[in-house]
Amino acid sequence: MEHLSNSFKKLANRPDFNDRYNDLKKEVLNNPDVQAFITKHSTEIEEGMINRSLVKLYEFVNQSKNCKSCPSLSQCKNILEGYHPHLVIQGRIIDLQYTKCPTKEAYDERKKHEALIKSMYIPKDILEAQFDKIDVDVEETSRLKVIGMAQDFVEAYNSGQRTKGLYLYGSFGVGKTYILGAIANELASHKVSSMLVYVPEFMRELKGSFQNSSLDEKLDAVKKIPVLMLDDLGAESVSSWMRDEILGTILQYRMLENLPTFISSNFGLKELQHHLAYSQRGEEEPVKAARIMERIKHMTTPVELIGRNRRG
Ligand code: ADP
Ligand code: MG
Repeated sequence: MEHLSNSFKKLANRPDFNDRYNDLKKEVLNNPDVQAFITKHSTEIEEGMINRSLVKLYEFVNQSKNCKSCPSLSQCKNILEGYHPHLVIQGRIIDLQYTKCPTKEAYDERKKHEALIKSMYIPKDILEAQFDKIDVDVEETSRLKVIGMAQDFVEAYNSGQRTKGLYLYGSFGVGKTYILGAIANELASHKVSSMLVYVPEFMRELKGSFQNSSLDEKLDAVKKIPVLMLDDLGAESVSSWMRDEILGTILQYRMLENLPTFISSNFGLKELQHHLAYSQRGEEEPVKAARIMERIKHMTTPVELIGRNRRG
């Protein structure tokens, strides 16, 4: 983008300058955000101040605010990618202050989490999942039901109610992770942070974190995130450490703190209980498995997603 004060200078040398100047001023003053700002500060702002600030105001009007005209961060339309302007009074002029836009804030936060937890890595199609872009076949009533429940959750959460997450189960490839991604994105657009953690990889990662002592830090981040999505629970290999110390600790904390948790699994609740009862070593620990299941049932509403395999 050409620097605005340059184009302004060029403009000033043209014979039709006055007309253009008035058009530009009209455009600026017609902008609802500018009008609101002027009304709010009516005691401080006079005509001269507006005239002195016209270049700034013009810059303001032409930038996207709150990501309204930007489909994604990489397609950000603003002068400085990821930053949007606010109007401020600075001495005798109206000036602009740039701060991170909501998309950039969410992006930076995700990067911070990703730097800490590698198993948070999410494929691109899931990262871009959105409720209104989810394909639904005519016969897929369960998908519609799940989307409805997910939207109800986000709505309730945004109005301050802490409702249960979902225990989303169904066969491979039906789109469970995709729906979790859509929930995460919808929450992010309301500035709610969430983490979508791929459980089998997360467990492997934690096992490897003993050496570099980052285990507590990773565990803490997952325990405390406002909304957690445990993706593909049941696909990990079970050890009593993983079940009782890791999964048990996370669920216990979140239950007590009333922090919503979503779970996706290929297993229904009964099958998951069976899965958790047998460790790799062949030990049978039904009571410990039952304890985990109790927490899961307390924190989530089970719902089955039925549909065709959308993979490949
Ligand atoms: P699951 O987690 O149930 O195994 P995924 O969520 O990974 O399934 O979905 C499998 C594939 O199908 C992914 O590539 C995903 O992007 C795609 N997908 C999922 N749901 C839909 C949908 N409703 N419409 C179109 N593609 C979808
Ligand atoms: Mg999945």
